[in-house]
Amino acid sequence: MAVGVLALQVLRRLGVKGVEIRKPEQLQNVNSLIIPGGESTTMAKLAQLHNLFPALREFVKMGKPVWGTCAGLIFLANNALGQKTGGQKLVGGLDCTIHRNFFGSQIQSFEAELSVPELAAKEGGPESFRGVFIRAPAIINVGPDVKVLADYPVPSDKVVNSAVAGGSIEEKNGSDKKVIVAVRQGNLLATAFHPELTADSRWHSYFLKMGNETGEGTLSSIGIRETE
Ligand code: GLN
Repeated sequence: MAVGVLALQVLRRLGVKGVEIRKPEQLQNVNSLIIPGGESTTMAKLAQLHNLFPALREFVKMGKPVWGTCAGLIFLANNALGQKTGGQKLVGGLDCTIHRNFFGSQIQSFEAELSVPELAAKEGGPESFRGVFIRAPAIINVGPDVKVLADYPVPSDKVVNSAVAGGSIEEKNGSDKKVIVAVRQGNLLATAFHPELTADSRWHSYFLKMGNETGEGTLSSIGIRETE
C-alpha cells in the first residue's frame, strides 16, 4: 500500500487529476504537489537517488502549492529532530522544527478529534476533524510566518529529552501543553496526520484552493511514493 495512491483517489473524487512524480522533469508538468506519508528516511534516499531534491526545492521556491502529510511534513521542515535524523536530507522551506515519531512507535498510532477553525471557515462543516496519526511527527516550534491550523496535547506520559528537542519542548510538556500538528506558510501546507485516510475531503479541497490564491492555474497533484 502506498499512501500516495490513497491521496490520488481523494483527488479523483474532487475532480482533479493526480500524477505520480518519479523524475525531476515531471515536476514541470504539475501545478501543485502533495508529498505523502511513508518513511521519510527511505523517501529521502529514493528522492536523492532520482535527483529530486533540487527540483523539489525549486518547486517550493517558485511559490507553487505543496502539501506535506506526515513524512511529507518532515520533508518540508527546515529542521528535524528525533530518532535517526542525523544527516537526513530535507527539502525544507517550511520555517519550523519537527520531531520525528513524536507520539511513539507504530503501535502508539492513534486517532483524535482536532479542532481546525480554519477548515470550518474556508470549507464549511464542523471545526472538528478526525486526525489519523501514524507514527506521526509533531511540530515543536514555528517561525513568525507560519500559521498554526491545529494543535494537540502532549501525552502526559511523554518523556521528552529536552536536549534532543533543543529545550523548546520542555515548556510544552505536560498535560496542558500542546504540540502543533497542522500549519500553513503561504504556499506550503503541512499536516502531521493523514487526511486521505478519512472520508472528509476538506483538507484536499482546502489545498486545491491554495493554487487559486497563489495564482496557479489548473491544478494537478502528485505524490512521491515510498515504494514501487
Ligand atoms: N515516522 C515516519 C517518518 O519519520 C512518518 C510516518 C508517516 O508518514 N505516517 O518518516
